[in-house]
Amino acid sequence: MRENTQDLSDFGYRERKQARDLLDLMIEEGLPDEFMDAGTTIEFNPHSGIVFLTNDHYQVAIKSGEELKMFRTCRICGAEGTEEDLEWESEHLCANCAE
Ligand SMILES: [Zn+2]
Repeated sequence: MRENTQDLSDFGYRERKQARDLLDLMIEEGLPDEFMDAGTTIEFNPHSGIVFLTNDHYQVAIKSGEELKMFRTCRICGAEGTEEDLEWESEHLCANCAE
């Protein structure tokens, strides 16, 4: 099984277009406030097919509509999603696990 990659030669046509969209949004709209820019890279997950921004702090931002949104993972139950998909107590804790 292949791992996540930052090697653009592993990106297909579709993934390169997604990477371009991420860069366009980063230039035009900026990163989400919470996303720290140190070590920002574009990464592709060959299993999910998702291309996303990540950084030295293991934060993840994805394209959602015409914006970049934080994509969170709950450290307790492993739930994943944006603020629109799920309610979050804090950066790595979903609202269900906070109760
Ligand atoms: Zn949780």
